[in-house]
Amino acid sequence: MSLQIARGREARPPLRSVRSKQDARPQLKEVSTGTVVPAPVRKVALRFPVNAETRAFYKRFYPDTSSVEWNDWRWQMRTRIRTLDELNRIFRLSADEHEAVARHKGSLPVGITPYYASLMDLEDPSEPLRRTHITTGGEYIRTPGEDNDPLGEDHDTVAPGIVHRYPDRVLFLTTGTCSTYCRYCTRARVVGNPGGEYKLSMREWEQALAYLEAHTEVRDVLLSGGDPLTLGDDKLDYLLGRLRAIKHIEFLRIGTKIPMVLPQRITKELVAILKKYHPLWMSIHATHPSELTEETTESTSRLADAGIPLGSQTVLMKGINDDIAVMKPLMQGLLKRRVRPYYLYQCDPISGSAHFRTTVEKGLEIIEGLRGHTTGYATPIFAVDAPGGGGKIQIAPDFVVGRDGDDLLLRNFEGGVYRYPDPGGTLGANKAPKLAAE
Ligand code: SF4
Repeated sequence: MSLQIARGREARPPLRSVRSKQDARPQLKEVSTGTVVPAPVRKVALRFPVNAETRAFYKRFYPDTSSVEWNDWRWQMRTRIRTLDELNRIFRLSADEHEAVARHKGSLPVGITPYYASLMDLEDPSEPLRRTHITTGGEYIRTPGEDNDPLGEDHDTVAPGIVHRYPDRVLFLTTGTCSTYCRYCTRARVVGNPGGEYKLSMREWEQALAYLEAHTEVRDVLLSGGDPLTLGDDKLDYLLGRLRAIKHIEFLRIGTKIPMVLPQRITKELVAILKKYHPLWMSIHATHPSELTEETTESTSRLADAGIPLGSQTVLMKGINDDIAVMKPLMQGLLKRRVRPYYLYQCDPISGSAHFRTTVEKGLEIIEGLRGHTTGYATPIFAVDAPGGGGKIQIAPDFVVGRDGDDLLLRNFEGGVYRYPDPGGTLGANKAPKLAAE
């Protein structure tokens, strides 16, 4: 079941400016002369809510921290939990976790914002959010079919940070920095490099932009990384402005996990920047209902209120979210926050990912458990990103049962079989009709 609901973290109305939009207009008041003059508008800063469990966590582990600091995304970035000592201070690590973290070298270090750590179980190493962010011994076990770059992105890299695989759109890896490092990351090979998080220099960005300016077939740019929202406001503003100035680019997208792991980053200043570059869409990486807090209600509300269409992407993982009792509240909770569930991905076969990967049938089972059983909008597309650079391939349950003459036989979500008159069609003809179920 949803830990979120079990822990009483279901969202309450976000703390927002105490005035509604209507109230925010200058108030008119009568004065003795009979003229009507505007009353002064009281400015109320937008601030973030802090859910009760998170507040208890930060009082315990960061007692000298004010709520202003806690809600400052830069403080959260600076104070990320990155060392074994810090992990030991907060979590009771298992021997496996301890050994695996101590052994780690290279990219994809441990990095967890204090806010995200506050959502994790401090005692239980099997708790889903904790499993996805604290290294375990499974990462050192390499199994057949795994690769450091399973999607062949390096092969399709045509300029610094630009992966051009599909005809009319590109992936722009803007930075190697994330606020939290997911242990199943497809780009484990390049994010959070040792010796300072990898950043593209301005000269490399210019090379990337020059490629985009020259390639008029590109109409859609997906900014990813790393996490583009870890860039400072000025840099992001500059980059989006430069992209928007390219006439043939019709459409920008940002892929990010920030609204879930560092919701405080969604400041009113950031939102004001993003609003300038419409049409701008956002894909939010969501993993588990435990992420659906008051804080993430606020971050997604701010983005949605700015007119940014929000979609989600979720990686299917064993013991994390491979259960309809977990996935359904996650999808429904996202929808309640105006985030349309978009993709459910089969976990990519990166090196050391076997402990996260499910069978592909499991994904179909999850989709079958959603389709028809809840709002259609809450049912994402299930896809495998084909190893070797084949791109995303959708896999869907087969609801075609067979054919009986001119009738197509279809199965509904409850298993009932129904006829659809389809004269001249051949769909289903290669399947034995199952009329007994009618
Ligand atoms: S936030 Fe995205 S890019 Fe960063 S570690 Fe997680 S999956 Fe990888």
